[in-house]
Amino acid sequence: MNEDRGDVVLSVRNLKTHFPTDDGVVKAVDGVTFDLHQGEVLGVVGESGCGKSITMKSVMQLVGKPGRIVDGQILFKRNRDGTNTEEVDIAKLRTNGKKIREIRGGDIALIPQEPMASFSPLHSIGSQIVEAVMLHQDVSKQEAKRIAIEKLNEVGMPSAEQRFDAYSWQLSGGLRQRAIIALALACNPSILIADEPTTAIDVTTQAQILELLKRLQREHGSSILFITHDLGVIAQLADHVVVMYLGRVMEQGAVSDVFTHPRHPYTRALLASIPSLHSEPRIELPTVAGGIPHPLQRPNGCPFHPRCPDAIPGTCDVAMPKLLDVEQSKVACFLHHDEAEEADA
Ligand code: SF4
Repeated sequence: MNEDRGDVVLSVRNLKTHFPTDDGVVKAVDGVTFDLHQGEVLGVVGESGCGKSITMKSVMQLVGKPGRIVDGQILFKRNRDGTNTEEVDIAKLRTNGKKIREIRGGDIALIPQEPMASFSPLHSIGSQIVEAVMLHQDVSKQEAKRIAIEKLNEVGMPSAEQRFDAYSWQLSGGLRQRAIIALALACNPSILIADEPTTAIDVTTQAQILELLKRLQREHGSSILFITHDLGVIAQLADHVVVMYLGRVMEQGAVSDVFTHPRHPYTRALLASIPSLHSEPRIELPTVAGGIPHPLQRPNGCPFHPRCPDAIPGTCDVAMPKLLDVEQSKVACFLHHDEAEEADA
């Protein structure tokens, strides 16, 4: 795999986040491994239910009960003063402890899907950004207000000083999304986690927000973990991509490589279902055959085998393929190697 990337800032190793229920254990995230490098955009993609949002919540220790991280590590290189780096295993932190509350919003910030639900309708957007700044930085209220207006300007909020006093419900969807990005940037986080941030807005605004994120990433050298179901967005924005299915990583690598040489049958099926300017007109686009299994009825062996056109009977339905290097990428598929996970073999 091509490792010509910046330093690793977040290393997720064999992460497992499970939800015990009366009917069994839902393994929402079941052995996920990836690295986020300094200054890169890492896209995490997959259909609904693939575990991408629970992975993101695990990184911020925001998994709701009864879910909990049962295994693995989330190693974060924390560097607040620019000199001393401390490695923190977020998976081991108490969900409401002091350290994770400092990291959440301070070092790692979230751009959520629906900003309306994130801003309080009772307080102006400016006062909420000021509150976030004062929570994480030792500054006066006046200085926090200056920072808030600076961030609103930075994200392209028109008339930022006036809009400081606006309420979220007075803003259009696009401006609300800009305001939430300003809130996320308020404490200069080293990692931004964007959870489907363009899903709830129209296509034109979506393009503007993606352009804004690209610009911010270039200017600040931030690392962005971008969660989406939309491979088109990944193609526009991300440097590397992690393709997830049923709580596991199926393939990961540089976008330029994975999109031109997809090796996993699931990645190939997802890419085939994207409309292209070169597609034949009036021809039905291929879809990924079948549906995602019930979370409590995970298939044995490779989780994709019931939908896979290339499944090898007696192998794919029995053993779990490991995620191994295949040329430039990492792929979990017996078409490319024959090593199985010991626990499931
Ligand atoms: Fe298909 Fe088998 Fe590869 Fe799974 S391991 S994707 S079932 S060929």
